[in-house]
Amino acid sequence: MKQRILLSPPHMGGTELKYVHLAFEQNWVVPLGPNVDAFEHELGAAVGAKHVAALVSGTSAIHLAMILLDVRPGDYVIGSTYTFSATINPIVYQCAIPVLVDSEEETWNMDPELLEEAIQKVKGERLKEKVKGPDLKAIIVTHLYGMPAKMNEIMAVAEKYGIPVIEDAAEALGSKYMGKRVGCQGKFGILSFNGNKIITTSGGGALISDDEGMIKRARFLATQARDPAPHYQHSVIGYNYRMSNVVAGIGRGQLEVLDQRIKRRREINQWYRDVLKDVPGITFHTEPSKDFYSNYWLTCIIIDPEKAGTDSEKIRLAFTAENIEVRPLWKPMHLQPVFENCPAYVNGTSEAFFRNGLCLPSGTNMTENDMERIQEVLKKAFRQ
Ligand SMILES: *Cc1c(COP(=O)(O)O)cnc(C)c1O
Repeated sequence: MKQRILLSPPHMGGTELKYVHLAFEQNWVVPLGPNVDAFEHELGAAVGAKHVAALVSGTSAIHLAMILLDVRPGDYVIGSTYTFSATINPIVYQCAIPVLVDSEEETWNMDPELLEEAIQKVKGERLKEKVKGPDLKAIIVTHLYGMPAKMNEIMAVAEKYGIPVIEDAAEALGSKYMGKRVGCQGKFGILSFNGNKIITTSGGGALISDDEGMIKRARFLATQARDPAPHYQHSVIGYNYRMSNVVAGIGRGQLEVLDQRIKRRREINQWYRDVLKDVPGITFHTEPSKDFYSNYWLTCIIIDPEKAGTDSEKIRLAFTAENIEVRPLWKPMHLQPVFENCPAYVNGTSEAFFRNGLCLPSGTNMTENDMERIQEVLKKAFRQ
């Protein structure tokens, strides 16, 4: 069996262990500690965020954002339907109702026009029913596969109706929109350092915001919501969501190579474009203009079966036979059994992506030999 090529495996930079050792030497083998403080500081500098809370996962960061925005049972939260389930699950943790909104074709992210339609419908129905209490509390928009969403348009709609925005930048660390790193335009941004992301702490995440009070509150809630008192005193429900000082050490090492990693992902993306440039019927996930700068976490393609003479499933199987991991693009949330009863505003875009799309291996530690094997499969599959 040939050695497996993974979609996006971890890629250590070399200095991670130095910071992990620091934690051991100081016996800070606990949540909190100097590595966590330094990681928050260094991450904030890297993405241009004023305040950062380092947490156990991106999912926990989204959950805390929901709590901080006062999402309660019966409330509505609008989210991208074209995303990973972790974007939407925390809405349900709060017993609120996800309202799913489809993508536009350029960035593959939330369609601002459809967003406005969804807001008007949800708000309108509630006005008719004269309901008090539950309300439309937040919008969570994903920057999928590293591609920034059309944030100016989305923010304009959100501001018109006074609804706060959470940016799910779990896949888009270091991507830029209008020259600025994503995650800082909405009320909150969330990041993930899961094992498959562009940099990793094995598992981890962060909540970022310009609002210092909110981030302080997030740290408080993430450490069991202990009131200031000599005994254990609690006035609200707490969570055990804080990043550990050992894990933060890995993060500090990984941050040192973030720019290198982005550069390499973008080179790999360009390499695929060169390899496939003469193949008809292939569309790459592509920055629509100079305003968008993707970290190209994963290189994604859509295959038109008629023009390409093959389809995404055949290509997936060809890779699998060579022990190379490729995957269909995300299955939209409105097609997931668990969310099938949620209100959804769809236009067919994400369903078509799911039907005909593939993510290609994009790990920054791919070798020349790995790339040759991938190119071989592509050549055969498209009969070049
Ligand atoms: C990975 C991911 C998350 C969740 O992050 P975890 O750190 O794994 O909890 C959320 N949203 C998107 C879009 C992701 O890709």
